[in-house]
Amino acid sequence: MKLKRAKAYRKLMHQYEVTFGFRSPYQVLVDHEILEDCWRGKIQLLERLQGCLQGPIKPMVTQCCMRALYNAKPKNDALIKWAQDNLERRRCNHHELEEPLSALQCLSAVIDPKDSKINKHRYVVASQDRKVRAHLRTIPGVPLIYLERAVMIMEPMNTASEELREREEKNKFRLGLKGQRNPDQPPKRKRDDEENGAEEQTTEEPRPQKKKKPRGPKEPNPLSMKKTKSKSTGPKPPRPAAAVAVADSTDAPAADGEDAGPRKRKRKHKPKGDGDAAANVDAEAAAV
Ligand SMILES: [Zn+2]
Repeated sequence: MKLKRAKAYRKLMHQYEVTFGFRSPYQVLVDHEILEDCWRGKIQLLERLQGCLQGPIKPMVTQCCMRALYNAKPKNDALIKWAQDNLERRRCNHHELEEPLSALQCLSAVIDPKDSKINKHRYVVASQDRKVRAHLRTIPGVPLIYLERAVMIMEPMNTASEELREREEKNKFRLGLKGQRNPDQPPKRKRDDEENGAEEQTTEEPRPQKKKKPRGPKEPNPLSMKKTKSKSTGPKPPRPAAAVAVADSTDAPAADGEDAGPRKRKRKHKPKGDGDAAANVDAEAAAV
């Protein structure tokens, strides 16, 4: 059992590392209840947490949870001393309030202050409060630990995390299939990184699709068309015919008909546009 669990937890933490960027030493926020329970059960909290997470940890406690220890009815001075010596204090800036916030309010504020469903600082949370864990399950990428009958348990990845992780894996799979060209997915994990990636991908996307049918001929043609256009607009009218002939070899005839139409119109438009502009200038000049 123990080996199995250790293996499962190792896999779980690996998933958190890959998907959410967790790195040891893991920052673990402990609430006052788990401190009290461990004290009562003579359980080595820090060793157990390390065993659970399979790596070095940085245990932390918020100011509110510390105050809760101070306010406890039979005040446990030894536990307070232990917490002061062994846990880093996480400033939650609720210390100016008359009463400390509940673990739910305080930890929610510390982990996801803007309620954006992101565990920005990659905290692991060890809490005996079911409401705390229920709330944090709605945020992807928050490893949750609690104590049950002297056994330290890490919850399986919550559905929010799991969905995000599966999306990531599908993305990677498609990336593999399409040779690092990701089709139509807007990934949501590392927003900064992947938005750039998505932009590159969208710009690259149309090219391979066009290439599929007429690989060789189509790409050089637009270039040659442009050149003939620029020449044809100048001195001689017969050149467009040559351009059409080149186009005939590759494009459908219907497309040529369409192409030929607008070209003539464009030529007519240009002088008109200039004329209008000139007229406008004249009008403005007249107005001035
Ligand atoms: Zn607080």
